[in-house]
Amino acid sequence: MSTQPLSSKIKDPHANNGGVNAMKPDDVDGKKVFIETYGCQMNLADSELMGGILAEEGFTAADSMEESDVILINTCAVRESAEDRVFGRLSHLLQHKHENPELVLGVTGCMAENLREKIVEKAPYVDLVVGPDAYRRLPELVADAMEENADPVIDVKLDQDEVYEGFSPKREDGVGAWVSVQRGCDKFCTFCIVPFTRGRERGVPPEEVVRQCKDIAERGFKKVTLLGQTVNSYEYEDTDFADLLEMIVPIDGIERIRFTSPYPIDFTDKLIDTIARHDEVCNYLHLPMQSASNEVLERMRRQYTVEEYVDLVERMRERIDGLALSTDIIVGFPGETDEQFQQTKDLMEELRFDFAYMFKYSERSKTYAEREMEDDVPESVKKERLTSIIEMQEDISREICESRIGTTQEVLVEGPSKRDDSELSGRTDDFKTTVFPRPADDSIEAGDFVDVDITDCTSHTLLGELSG
Ligand code: SF4
Repeated sequence: MSTQPLSSKIKDPHANNGGVNAMKPDDVDGKKVFIETYGCQMNLADSELMGGILAEEGFTAADSMEESDVILINTCAVRESAEDRVFGRLSHLLQHKHENPELVLGVTGCMAENLREKIVEKAPYVDLVVGPDAYRRLPELVADAMEENADPVIDVKLDQDEVYEGFSPKREDGVGAWVSVQRGCDKFCTFCIVPFTRGRERGVPPEEVVRQCKDIAERGFKKVTLLGQTVNSYEYEDTDFADLLEMIVPIDGIERIRFTSPYPIDFTDKLIDTIARHDEVCNYLHLPMQSASNEVLERMRRQYTVEEYVDLVERMRERIDGLALSTDIIVGFPGETDEQFQQTKDLMEELRFDFAYMFKYSERSKTYAEREMEDDVPESVKKERLTSIIEMQEDISREICESRIGTTQEVLVEGPSKRDDSELSGRTDDFKTTVFPRPADDSIEAGDFVDVDITDCTSHTLLGELSG
């Protein structure tokens, strides 16, 4: 555990109580909280966790910012663009504080952990800054911030043991739910801030994961997505990730199990076999490659070689029927030459991912790469490389979707399609969005499984008609 330095203007919530949830805040019953989330699914799951923790102490969820007593911006520090958007958002929210001076405005999540000084300096009207390991204390921190003339309340203490066991996240009703099974990360990739903002890796006890999965099954969710920064390296005492999947598969009502984001080298043969054996475990995996140059991978401090990555993809495709794969790619990492970039592009073409999340490298403050490497690939070159792989990947994704035309796919219906209310949208077992006309008698609803004959597609969506 480490205590972060606090400026004299900042109130230390630990100064008066050393305990966790040591006091129940008074006068918060019915206070309305609005949480806006940036970043990854871990962050969305954390917002649900915060909602659950606050609800236990009497706070209620606000439908809009306008009716809120408390606005929390749950932030992401992984990409520069997300950080810029948050600062833009905060200055916009200052208007709400002018209209309602009692409004508590808080920043939570990775930026709170990483950029607390900058937040207080650039947005001194922020009342509350809370890091990802301090949500247990959120009700009392909010109550402190509500006090008249309170100084900004900051709690960014990392806690090596915190996994939020026993809390019930406030999940919106729906078809799928997230369950965090792991917090933090031990990999220390040189471009990544996560190990510094979320601390070291620790697994949630398997009984707690099972409790949450049973709870969501009882509430009617059909799909669970297990979350962790390197989810397949999960371990708790002698339970590994394959064991954890085996414990979730028999839960009545959970029809589909997904997980994200795995770390390539931590896929064991035992885990691959477990995925292959169980229909409930979706045959779609996200496998971040980042680069196909061994020199670049080494500079990124990824712990695998290109050869090991390719071997893993081959073994998985051999053993898991109809496996769909996605990946993450960073272009323009410090020192990446034209030739090294071309290796990445060539391997993407060869491996043919179903889709890819592709990014230009941007420096994140306090990472090893920012401190020790020169961001030496010109912006124009980064853009060119990014455009080139995006165009190629679009073609590959489209071709893969086209190969499904004429097949029948089982689809878990999620609800109306985003573009047209007369259509329904859902996902195949390998995670492809599928859109089809809503039947006239409205006999199909979210959570149903239906067969869809695929008749057409775009690069990312299958289009079809109900079968039969
Ligand atoms: S594995 Fe690497 S990229 Fe992923 S969270 Fe950990 S340090 Fe960041």
